[in-house]
Amino acid sequence: MASADIPLGWLADLFQKARRPVAPLKLGGYIRGALAPATAQVLFSSRYGGFFQPKRADEAMTQPLQTPKSRKRSFSDDLFGPELPTGCTFHPKSLGLRTQMALLAAIQEIAHAAPLTKVLTKTGGYTSAAITNCGHAGWWSDAKGYRYETRNPANGMPWPAMPDIFLRAVSACVANTPWPNFAPDACLINFYEPGAKMGLHQDRDEKDFTQPIVTVCLGGDADFQVGGPKRSDKTSSIIVRSGDVMIMGGESRLYFHGVRKIYSDTSPIPEIKGRYSLTFRKAL
Ligand code: FE
Repeated sequence: MASADIPLGWLADLFQKARRPVAPLKLGGYIRGALAPATAQVLFSSRYGGFFQPKRADEAMTQPLQTPKSRKRSFSDDLFGPELPTGCTFHPKSLGLRTQMALLAAIQEIAHAAPLTKVLTKTGGYTSAAITNCGHAGWWSDAKGYRYETRNPANGMPWPAMPDIFLRAVSACVANTPWPNFAPDACLINFYEPGAKMGLHQDRDEKDFTQPIVTVCLGGDADFQVGGPKRSDKTSSIIVRSGDVMIMGGESRLYFHGVRKIYSDTSPIPEIKGRYSLTFRKAL
């Protein structure tokens, strides 16, 4: 990667983010607190591991993301990061700020028609994150259990249509993956306030497990955990930031995952006081 590809201000960004406290956690031989942030991971891996900064999807929405095979297991072969399970791929900085702002505007329209709400879980409490949906179906939970509904149970209205910017963004993100024709019919939008979290869970209410779940991160940084097919499997941890994309498909499609922590005051978009995740699914 030519030095011209390194984002301007990367050094200041690196030092600023490196100061952020991260709870020490032993991870497969790594000490989490000693891990460099994703910025450094991308930077150093591009120098020493053969990775490079992918083109931003909004700078070349019609061009596929450049995702070399060596990135499919994330940072497993460099000095800094945890190893993600096969089929779970991390795509840092896939969406630029312009696209992120457009996604936020679309979310605000969706939330106007289908307000974000906390829903009842199987354990009898309410979700820590507030949710809403768009597309042909929306994920929902109440006393009847976890399922997809074609109408919003909160108001009886059909879910808002999937915005074009959502479809364009996800299409750019999967272009060079094993699922280039991924056509989501549902997008579950989670909003995490600082302090909110999502316990380890599997996404298994969809009909077709051959299709991945594509998660777009927007707003503040989060500590994303991914484990294995059993809840008790060891988890890896990765800091996901605004514009990053995580894809769970293939072998990892039903792996347990969750969000352990949202980092306050880390959103590059001041209007977002927390974090959104847009999780695209083929639900029906
Ligand atoms: Fe999930």
